[in-house]
Amino acid sequence: MFVCDKCGQCCRHVNLSSIYHDLDRGDGVCKYLSGNLCGIYENRPLLCRIDESYEILFKETIDKDEYYRLNYAVCSKLKAKE
Ligand code: SF4
Ligand code: SF4
Repeated sequence: MFVCDKCGQCCRHVNLSSIYHDLDRGDGVCKYLSGNLCGIYENRPLLCRIDESYEILFKETIDKDEYYRLNYAVCSKLKAKE
């Protein structure tokens, strides 16, 4: 299972990827972010669900360890912006 420390940095930079465009409140921050947490966590979009996204969208095209590695790399880059 993907380990998220709830830093909230991905949710503060939804403008960096066009697939999250609809979530941007206008300044790059997701309109659903509340503090560091997701205000619609149980109903958040599939693309905000790393493990579910893998099973539904990426399973056939990428190894899970590599998928996690790529996602953790993005987390590290976003954390560097803190
Ligand atoms: S940047 Fe990574 S660790 Fe931080 S909240 Fe997002 S998924 Fe979790
Ligand atoms: S919907 Fe929730 S998990 Fe997805 S970017 Fe917004 S605050 Fe983050």
